[in-house]
Amino acid sequence: MNIKEYVELTKQTAIYPPDTFLEYLTLGLASEAGEVSGVVKKYIRKDFPLEQAQEKLTKELGDVLWYWARLCDELGLNPEEVMEGNINKLLKRKENQTLQGDGDDR
Ligand SMILES: [Mg+2]
Repeated sequence: MNIKEYVELTKQTAIYPPDTFLEYLTLGLASEAGEVSGVVKKYIRKDFPLEQAQEKLTKELGDVLWYWARLCDELGLNPEEVMEGNINKLLKRKENQTLQGDGDDR
């Protein structure tokens, strides 16, 4: 499955009030990112082994992806352009040896 197909399929499970999509989706994205952190925290705490952490992270990262995809779609952003823009930015930072540091404009 490619990212455009995935974004299209997320429409089938996009159940939220249309007038609050921005709040709903950004809060959902932050919440799911927190769930990723929670799994890592519990893995570090040795609540479960690596294999179980990987299973949980697969699910939680999928949840992050769903909110990211819905935000792209609702905001009229091309998900491929978002991905390409991000990796191009990071590769340029690597080339300029500014990967580490602060600020968006490096
Ligand atoms: Mg989740």
